[in-house]
Amino acid sequence: FFLTFEGIDGSGKSTQARLLAGHLQATGHEVILTREPGGSPGAEEIRRLLVEGDPGRWSAETEILLFTAARRDHLERTIEPALEAGKTVICDRFADSTRIYQGVARGDLRGIVDTLHRQMIQKEPDLTIVIDMDPDSALERGLARGSGEDRFEEFGATFQHSLRRGFLDLAKDFPNRCIVVDGNNGAQDVSLQINQVLANRLP
Ligand code: C5P
Repeated sequence: FFLTFEGIDGSGKSTQARLLAGHLQATGHEVILTREPGGSPGAEEIRRLLVEGDPGRWSAETEILLFTAARRDHLERTIEPALEAGKTVICDRFADSTRIYQGVARGDLRGIVDTLHRQMIQKEPDLTIVIDMDPDSALERGLARGSGEDRFEEFGATFQHSLRRGFLDLAKDFPNRCIVVDGNNGAQDVSLQINQVLANRLP
């Protein structure tokens, strides 16, 4: 079973992915917790190219190619082998992030993202949890966390608002696999909500 978390920066995706992995492990699932960009040695190298150095370094088009290259490696080396071994894969971001960040919010490039996805990736998650969150609070959370890898300073609040809209629209485009969860409450509340939603969706 392949499950992904999506949402804007600071929406709590990584925390929720970790909590869910723990919950599923405790109930007897074999779980692989992974992330994008990254998730395999090669893709983690590409991640460094994306998040380190001069933030304006890549055009949106080049980013699409880098994210897709990273995803292809991640899929070949980590995701597919785990799924074939019958494990549950939980991934913090996947193709939907590229659809929305590079395809919608950074420019009108969704056609290129979709074409490359069809040719190089194809894989879709069985279930996607979109954590919806007020961009201004998410921004504060992210700044407080100060991970140094977020791109708030580069693109700012307007960008986060267009991402939020993008993810909500995407959930409507893929209603069979997307579930929107309200991320504005505390992590434990959000986690309970997710466990309840999943109780009748997981095999
Ligand atoms: O989710 P995570 O914090 O690991 O992502 C690292 C950075 O890459 C974030 O700032 C995120 O906004 C950015 N990103 C992006 N385009 C994507 C995925 C992530 O700009 N498709």
